[in-house]
Amino acid sequence: MSTPPLASGPEGPYALRPLLDAVLDALDAGARARGGPLPAGGPEAVAARLREAVGEVLPDQGDPHALRAVVHAFAEGAADPAHPLCAAHLHCPPLAVATAADLAASALNPSLDSWDQAPAASELEARVTAALATEIYGPGQSRTPDSVITTGGTESNQLALLLAREACGGTVRLVVGANAHHSLPRAAWLLGLPEPVVVPAPTGTLDPTALDAALTRLPGPLLVTATAGTTDAGHIDPLPEIAARCTTHGARLHIDAAYGGALLFSDRHRHRLTGLDTADTVTLDLHKLGWQPVAAGLLAVKDAHDLTALRQHADYLNATDDTEAGLPDLLGRSLRTTRRPDVLKLAVTLKTLGRRGLGTLVDQVCARAREFAALVQAHPGFDLHAPPVISTVLFRPAGATDATVAAVRRALLTDGRAVLGRARLDGRLWLKATLLNPATGPDDLAALLHLVAARRATLAEGHTPR
Ligand SMILES: *Cc1c(COP(=O)(O)O)cnc(C)c1O
Repeated sequence: MSTPPLASGPEGPYALRPLLDAVLDALDAGARARGGPLPAGGPEAVAARLREAVGEVLPDQGDPHALRAVVHAFAEGAADPAHPLCAAHLHCPPLAVATAADLAASALNPSLDSWDQAPAASELEARVTAALATEIYGPGQSRTPDSVITTGGTESNQLALLLAREACGGTVRLVVGANAHHSLPRAAWLLGLPEPVVVPAPTGTLDPTALDAALTRLPGPLLVTATAGTTDAGHIDPLPEIAARCTTHGARLHIDAAYGGALLFSDRHRHRLTGLDTADTVTLDLHKLGWQPVAAGLLAVKDAHDLTALRQHADYLNATDDTEAGLPDLLGRSLRTTRRPDVLKLAVTLKTLGRRGLGTLVDQVCARAREFAALVQAHPGFDLHAPPVISTVLFRPAGATDATVAAVRRALLTDGRAVLGRARLDGRLWLKATLLNPATGPDDLAALLHLVAARRATLAEGHTPR
């Protein structure tokens, strides 16, 4: 067998073109075979179909048709976030232009751990991370803000804790709201920090009075984390009040804006993030409200000097004489070594859509959430948890037990008809619709509610929930 074709080099584009045709055909055929947002039949049936289609994972003799067959099976069994009834998680449909850019990243395969592997990619990353830091912190700060690219909110939150620990002289106690993302206490555990203190969030957002009491009582150094867009409900903590308490008590502030951060792009919704620029560090996830293929995370720092904690020296990547001779030192921009140029799809998206284009997408999904909430409220068979803050709507069939709510969700998943999430709030279980698809229309929302009502009715007729 001759050498399989490579993706880059002079022959790369010619080798890729027919393969891309095969991929696109398989995506199309796979989606048709699925016929809905999720493959029908539940985990066992889906796994069996996948095993059947893929066959032996490492055969002795290779199969030239594997690309088409495996991609077809992958697509047929996918949960498609571009389907209007796929609305469970902060799992966005990626923009075609971002996905196309990601192909170029894969083909050229630059790695952002040294300049000689990523000459243009490193400059593009420097430009984009600086611009996004300015977007968050505004121009004219006394200290220069910066940001680094991460694999997502989990890594950003971990880095934020690490930078806080280093800025505080080697240890820091985390003070989190009860509404905070699980990755924050987990990062404290990973970094060997003291047991986090949890501040109540009785109405879904961190209570500033309780925070004040905790900050008064606890010895420093302390790192407070607030959330701008909780995973469950999209709640935004009272950022200015929290920031004021942190200033009074000399605590550091991290804001986890993994979900809500992209409201910055919207003239209509930007004001909800007032106070974001007071944080020492900010998490932003553009594979949520940003329509990027995974991974597209960011950690912004108010003072670029904080990033010196990540400095690292390895002679084969950033030899001192190379750095002195002007080769950019990239190793201190991440805890990873080999690193994908996730910046390419971001740069292409930001420039293709502009702030206005992104803001319009944000406005659209926020408007869809309001419309869906209005449909729920007008329907006698449903209770609405609260008006949506961002693009998440929590609702439940009126009078249902938690077990029925859970069973309705699983029945819809098993049917492959709709993908809804679940959230426990105020002591009850809710169905969660996270609307991230700007193409979802009013008819889709009505269809979603209708499906839930119909499924609830069949379960109520005595079909055993499982
Ligand atoms: C999703 C989310 C995270 C984690 O981000 P990943 O990209 O999944 O690692 C952190 N915080 C909040 C508030 C989130 O919604």
